[in-house]
Amino acid sequence: MKKETMEELSARTDEHEFYLSAPKGYRVGKTKYVVITGSVISGVGKGTFSSCIGTILSLFHGFRVSPIKFDGYLNCDAGTLNPFRHGEVFVLDDGTECDLDLGSYERMLNKNLSKDNYLTSGKIFKMIIDKERAGGYLGRDVQFIPHVTGEIKGFLRNLASKTDADIVLVEVGGTVGDLENSYFIEAMRELSYEEGRENVFFINVTYILEPRSLGEHKSKAAQLGVKSLMSLGVQPNMIICRSENPVNEKVREKISIFSNVPLSRVVNCYDVGNMYSIPLFLMESGVDKEIINSLNLKKWEKIDEINLGKWKQLAKKTENPVNEVTVGITGKYTNVHDSYISIIKALEHSGSYSGTKVNIRWIETTEIENGENDINEVMKGLDGIIIPGGFGKRGIEGKIMCAKYARENNIPYLGLCLGFQIALMEFARNVCGIKDADSTEMNPDTKSPVVDILPEQKKIEGLGGNMRLGGKDVEVKKGTLAHKLYGKDMVRKRFRHRFECNPEYIQTLERNGLVFSGKHPKYPIMQILEIPKHPFFLATQYHAEFTSKTLHPEPLFSGFLKACMKK
Ligand code: GLN
Repeated sequence: MKKETMEELSARTDEHEFYLSAPKGYRVGKTKYVVITGSVISGVGKGTFSSCIGTILSLFHGFRVSPIKFDGYLNCDAGTLNPFRHGEVFVLDDGTECDLDLGSYERMLNKNLSKDNYLTSGKIFKMIIDKERAGGYLGRDVQFIPHVTGEIKGFLRNLASKTDADIVLVEVGGTVGDLENSYFIEAMRELSYEEGRENVFFINVTYILEPRSLGEHKSKAAQLGVKSLMSLGVQPNMIICRSENPVNEKVREKISIFSNVPLSRVVNCYDVGNMYSIPLFLMESGVDKEIINSLNLKKWEKIDEINLGKWKQLAKKTENPVNEVTVGITGKYTNVHDSYISIIKALEHSGSYSGTKVNIRWIETTEIENGENDINEVMKGLDGIIIPGGFGKRGIEGKIMCAKYARENNIPYLGLCLGFQIALMEFARNVCGIKDADSTEMNPDTKSPVVDILPEQKKIEGLGGNMRLGGKDVEVKKGTLAHKLYGKDMVRKRFRHRFECNPEYIQTLERNGLVFSGKHPKYPIMQILEIPKHPFFLATQYHAEFTSKTLHPEPLFSGFLKACMKK
């Protein structure tokens, strides 16, 4: 489709069968699109692959890359999703609650994303229905094609324009063949038709099975997966064969023949050690050059040697750590470690920088409170403990016991969100002598609500929409550990909570030696606490883990690990 016709056509869209949605001034060909789909099975590492490609194109080649994840769920966002089933709910600076893959993009690409980088089926349908009710479709019958697919393309073009992107990197959630993402893939086919094949690059991430009974790789499932993508009218430009072990040439050849994709673009990406080594591996395989050449993006000779050098160093340090620590993490959802992925990554970032291997031991706190496990046994061998975010009553008393143990035995303690509130309750009970100190979340009738619902939010009832969400400024007090670690008077951090430190108890807590080293710049909302006499006892009402980046570890995590090493 010609440059000129895009705007013309969208202006008189009621006269023909096209439904083109593009922001004003949108120029075809200015932004290129890389579309990543997955086939055969879910969980092949499509998200990891996508963020690695994003890293290569942005950090190393210097392109402006805007990633976007499409989720087939009918949920409008991830706010109501149970982390036990779906993994962590990640929070963006603008307060968007989204899929954990967005966290991966932010960390790897070293940038902050927004609501424009996340699209769910629920969000697109709600948009369309609202628009229809407002008469936005000018009397047309609203159809999957062209309207739903048209709005999806419009969403991508809007992102392209708003972020002035060289490349929009589209990750299509789910697997080819799912009903849920079929119209999204159709939208991508149309995108390629409208933008031109030279501007859209399709990558299919597939999986090569290796049945143990046969002891060799089998490509049939991958062939069928690619075939079903092609039956939707999408010809992939590149195929990434994920596998546990390296596959041989014959397997790649077979896939090449069946998919019309030249052998040089059928790339085997087997399990390679750590996260840092994957982008390096993909570059060695020439994946970036194939994409850049095909999309006619000329800048690729200019590699950012500084970023690449840093990255290589981190890969090396991760492979050859000089220290080792064991950190305990208490958690309700301990059998689904994806629920805590940002914490694990934040530990990895700080660990890589300092050449420290971080072992994680998961602690089920219900077993401590019911006496099944002795606290002394549980804490044995731990160099530090993290109490992460959480909701509800379960395991709370066990967590308070862990905080007490850490405080009394000089074990480094890092509390995140709920972990901040746990520290408050523990300190109030065992240091200030308020024996029944509690949170109104766990005990609504408590006489000593040290943790209570936010005054400004008290009027709002019910689930959803009443959470204090997103990036907020935190004023850091001079002369404190937090200030030493951040080296700044003001930081911006991400929140997702309803309850907070009850302002009525601030004085008592401070008088007994607790220091609030981070506060809201205007209101008496406490955001960081610490105990100066302790080697490292620090907690944040915000989720410090959400702003840790691969190339820029979150300072509190680095401080925590340093204290763990000293121990
Ligand atoms: N449940 C607590 C609150 O709502 C903590 C939330 C969290 O840890 N994310 O305030």
